[in-house]
Amino acid sequence: MTEEQKLKERKEELISHYKKYGYLKSEEIISAFRKVPREHFIGSNPKQLAYLDRPLPIYSNQTISAPHMVAMMVSKEILDLKVGDICLEVGAGSGYHAAVIAEIVAPTGTDKSKWGHVYTIERIEKLVNFAKDNLKNTGYDDRVTVIYGDGSLGLPDKAPYDKITVAAAAPEIPPPLLEQLKPGGKLVIPVGGKGYYQELKVIAKNKDGSINSATKCGVAFVPLIGKFGY
Ligand code: SAM
Repeated sequence: MTEEQKLKERKEELISHYKKYGYLKSEEIISAFRKVPREHFIGSNPKQLAYLDRPLPIYSNQTISAPHMVAMMVSKEILDLKVGDICLEVGAGSGYHAAVIAEIVAPTGTDKSKWGHVYTIERIEKLVNFAKDNLKNTGYDDRVTVIYGDGSLGLPDKAPYDKITVAAAAPEIPPPLLEQLKPGGKLVIPVGGKGYYQELKVIAKNKDGSINSATKCGVAFVPLIGKFGY
């Protein structure tokens, strides 16, 4: 069996496991998981680790999140992503999570005029370049824009957003992110201490601008560093 076939087999095993345990439910999200090659976002880690259910180190002491966390954060119950959504991700890291979102809001092989877009912001310059290269090599640079900056301030230039996802833990929900969310939009963010235990909060902004907040589960993310972070 070639390395490529082995990776494909491992990916299918992971997808079956996630379907069984409820992490992957909808066909659009399963298809996005199938299409985005995680092995091209893990840097110098051995490729055979790509479909283990665990975070992996990238650069500058940061990690690419475990695939089940990405599956959960893009789920219908949490973000309810739709084709055409304009999204912001805070914490680009490797660019993998942004590519999975892009494959849902702008699916490969569909009418480009209906595509949404993902803006992903990263505070570590080396990771900005890493994410850009990975997204270019896998063909997602037409649907994902990587920006260098402090994502705790959001990205006002491209606001408002249908969906915002934060891949680092904040002490509280950064006010700029709430401001930059469209009425009817959703935000998912880990909130809590720096010590690797936080709550995953799902925020819905109602049409009248009021906010509903729910706690989904306990999570362990690296800290959000910045004006409205640590
Ligand atoms: N989504 C990433 C992926 O798919 O590889 C993984 C994200 S990693 C768990 C968290 C990232 O958030 C790190 O790359 C870190 O540098 C970044 N980060 C932390 N604080 C930030 C901030 N204020 N603005 C932008 N990025 C930030």
